[in-house]
Amino acid sequence: MREVIIIGSGPAGFTAGIYTARAGLKPLLIASSVEIGGELMKTTEVENFPGFPDGLQGPELMANFQAQAERFGTEIMYEDVVEVDLKGEIKIVKTGNGETFEAKTVILATGAAYRELGLPREKELSGHGVSWCATCDGFFFREKTIAVVGGGDSAMEEANFLTRFASKVYLIHRRDTFKASKIMQDRAMANPKIEVIWNSEIAELKGATNLEAVTLRNTVDGSTKDMDLDGLFIAVGNDPRVWLVENQLELTAEKFIKVEGRSSKTTLPGVFACGDVIDPTYRQAITAAGSGCVAALDAEHYLMNH
Ligand code: NAP
Repeated sequence: MREVIIIGSGPAGFTAGIYTARAGLKPLLIASSVEIGGELMKTTEVENFPGFPDGLQGPELMANFQAQAERFGTEIMYEDVVEVDLKGEIKIVKTGNGETFEAKTVILATGAAYRELGLPREKELSGHGVSWCATCDGFFFREKTIAVVGGGDSAMEEANFLTRFASKVYLIHRRDTFKASKIMQDRAMANPKIEVIWNSEIAELKGATNLEAVTLRNTVDGSTKDMDLDGLFIAVGNDPRVWLVENQLELTAEKFIKVEGRSSKTTLPGVFACGDVIDPTYRQAITAAGSGCVAALDAEHYLMNH
């Protein structure tokens, strides 16, 4: 029987690992089989994580998180959790390789997954001109004409990054103002390769086997027009990953895991949640890390009292 199992390996999960390991709880952190490190693995330069005045690459930051968690004895497992039973005093966690674990506490740090536009051919053209990860796929669009959809920080960041490869980057946004922070907006607007297309959404993806064009719909007057594109990067936000637990724990109206006040306590005793899976507002690496610390301390207190 484990004292603590942590599910997820972003800043929240690894920080929970660092704290619970230092508390001598020998945590098992189940990191997933493919997406170890979470969303920051898809980021380029991280400039706003305190303690790194010159910035660093997202994957490098996550490697540091992991090394620090392992240094204090966090055991890391590269598997996917496929099922959990969190209701009883003893929590059951099953992984994709058929193993079953028992724990007194579980910390959920499963983060959020990229959002789709919901267009008919979106999945089919994924990897064939449609992408959610500029860092992963930008290289394939050298001297090409591409577009980024979205108006948040991710869209600004992706658009800027993609100008390293593409000859032209359109930034397509459904309104006439961005949601992104001012510094990120300013950077995108100052980039000569980026052109903003306001008040527009993608109505259709076109192309035989690869994306060749999109149909744009004007969100003000409803008019449509086609636009040739070699690539489309979708950066319209994320949805919390709750499918593992949604039938066992209470969720908020926006489908985040519900926690009590400023704590990480879910509606089940011994089950704690942290990071993007509980946070509809801030969603930064630093806030996720802070939230992972809260979950670790809450789990520690729970174990002391039980
Ligand atoms: P976000 O802030 O939720 O922004 C999503 C954007 O996509 C919004 O502009 C939204 O439009 C648009 N959108 C949503 N659904 C859409 C749809 N179906 N069709 C077209 N457009 C759609 O998401 P994010 O940009 O991924 O950022 C997530 C969090 O990570 C934020 O807290 C952000 O600050 C943070 N982040 C920070 C950095 C950084 O600081 N370096 C970098 C990346 C992300 P509306 O504006 O109309 O709602």
